[in-house]
Amino acid sequence: MNEKKTKIGIFGGTFNPPHLGHVRLANEAAERIGADKVLIIPSCIPPHKMPGKLAGGEERMEMCRLAFEGELFEVSSIELDRGDKSYTVETLRELKKIYPDAELYFIIGSDMLETFTRWYCWEEIMTLATICAASREEGFKADLSVFTSEQRERIIFLDIEPLEVSSTQIRVEIAKNGTPEFLSPAVLGYIEENGLYDDGLSEYRKILREKLDDYRIYHSECVSECAAVLAEKYGADPEKARLAGLMHDVMKNADSDGHFEYIEKSGERLTPVDFSNPKVWHQISGAAYLKESGIITDGEILGAVRWHTTGKADMSLLEKIVYVADFISADRDYPDVGVVRRLAEKSLEDAILYTSRYTVNKLVSKNLPIHPATVECYNDMIINSERG
Ligand code: ATP
Repeated sequence: MNEKKTKIGIFGGTFNPPHLGHVRLANEAAERIGADKVLIIPSCIPPHKMPGKLAGGEERMEMCRLAFEGELFEVSSIELDRGDKSYTVETLRELKKIYPDAELYFIIGSDMLETFTRWYCWEEIMTLATICAASREEGFKADLSVFTSEQRERIIFLDIEPLEVSSTQIRVEIAKNGTPEFLSPAVLGYIEENGLYDDGLSEYRKILREKLDDYRIYHSECVSECAAVLAEKYGADPEKARLAGLMHDVMKNADSDGHFEYIEKSGERLTPVDFSNPKVWHQISGAAYLKESGIITDGEILGAVRWHTTGKADMSLLEKIVYVADFISADRDYPDVGVVRRLAEKSLEDAILYTSRYTVNKLVSKNLPIHPATVECYNDMIINSERG
């Protein structure tokens, strides 16, 4: 007689922090699989992806223990113990050795399924585990055409109502002293007790709340976080990057009078091209407002705000970082954003070259003037990098 095989769900993530979207996915997947156990595996985040106030491995382990309640769940340090960025395939190979007779089910959200075929050894992953995926957003349709029919049989798609929440949204909400939704009370208590995700910028956020709409505030938070990550990676000051990213759009919602008041105070003269394109006013008025109001005195940060839209030749490291972060922050979803994110992983200059070319092409196609600073930025990148 055949013995029933043990079924183990494997759910990995950064869990920074774990939220109710994670918990729902893990529970629904466990039920559908008929899992005997679900391993919750916080990933090891490379130091350059963990700037400032992001929670460390131990803290994420503890939050997972609090979030995933019940005997079914076991929080595993298998990836943290490896101490470096882990590939899923390595984790699954290791688990296959620990549980040779078990059936493994790898649980993921739809965003992961979409990029899955770019993962390291994804085909082997599918031989080691059945994929158990669920939608993260309303109306998501999984495109399984990239898989062979045999592989498709190894994918279970859970038809569950998505809970549209991400850890990034929660961190942003906590940082601005808001009340985050979709967190278990125990995890929220832990975050508060340990002062996680508070970056000490609440005074600046007060200013943003007076000047910007909700979407723009969210975008500013995303740019802030992304700029801090890039700063860690490329050797700039992450705290300055975080602040510059947060405040870069401070005048974005101002009316013309608001812009001109501060542009005049700055002593800068608008050129005819500046006049013709209101979208560039806020970079000048923003830097001027922050300086004139005494909110920011640091010249490097002011420079990053001043040039974040057009770019320019000879940008400083911080200016490059904020310029790129504005293109690739987590809220961005224009068609080429994935390409720019991948370029920024390797080189800021390659990302700037791509985006300045993209901007120039877009303006030309719309019959609009191109700001000379953008042209100079493009020329600078192409001449100095010889990346043409
Ligand atoms: P961040 O915002 O920091 O990128 P996240 O909310 O996407 O975090 P992760 O820890 O990166 O969370 O995700 C771990 C796994 O959980 C991934 O497979 C992801 O697709 C899935 N997941 C995250 N949020 C949800 C959700 N709301 N619904 C379903 N699956 C989710």
